[in-house]
Amino acid sequence: MRTVLLGAPGSGKGTQGVVLSKKYNIPQISTGDLLRAAVSAGSELGKKAKTAMDAGALVSDDIVIGLIRERISDNDAKNGYILDGFPRNIVQAEALDAMLEELDQPLQGVVLLDVAFEELMQRLTGRRTCKDCGAIYNVHLSPPKTADHCDACNGELFQRADDNEETIGNRLNVYQDQTAPLIGYYGDQDKLHSIAGTGNIDDITTAVGAIFDTL
Ligand code: ADP
Ligand code: ZN
Repeated sequence: MRTVLLGAPGSGKGTQGVVLSKKYNIPQISTGDLLRAAVSAGSELGKKAKTAMDAGALVSDDIVIGLIRERISDNDAKNGYILDGFPRNIVQAEALDAMLEELDQPLQGVVLLDVAFEELMQRLTGRRTCKDCGAIYNVHLSPPKTADHCDACNGELFQRADDNEETIGNRLNVYQDQTAPLIGYYGDQDKLHSIAGTGNIDDITTAVGAIFDTL
């Protein structure tokens, strides 16, 4: 099942991706996670990516397209995947389509998590992530039972470097300008499914799952 979760920063792509990946036993492939791993490892690629990420700008298309090309050819992706945070502009979407056409394995569906712009800021400033299992919490909206620790694995929670107000503003602008046009792009391909990304997290998972089950 080859799918994309589309949505603004803070729309819940990562949260849903983690859960759905387990449910469907296919990897969640997040370019944000891949890039953050490269930054932590201090690789050349990571050094190139870091400046753009810290500013809330997009990392160059060449870098992320290369990362995706490698990652989707890994063995665990042979039955499909959930792309999270990629593609993020039309150039990336076209590159992905070209790459998948070559493999004769086109995308099957794109799910847009629709969240009002005003709600995104609160979600992003409150976001905390488990360093061990990747579970995502929000100190305002869905706090962990014990402060700074993961309910699932007791791992320590951290705040992402780019979840500060200035960078968040830039990321939301980049989404509006560059990523939102993908709604039309996938709509034209009849692959777009839009669901409300607000309310109970489990209900959203159920709604996305209902769409995945038709693919
Ligand atoms: P969010 O969706 O919450 O902004 P991500 O973890 O998806 O977070 O991305 C964090 C940062 O990584 C982005 O602001 C951008 O700098 C970079 N990035 C992630 N995916 C891409 C991509 N497909 N193209 C370019 N840059 C990307
Ligand atoms: Zn955890």
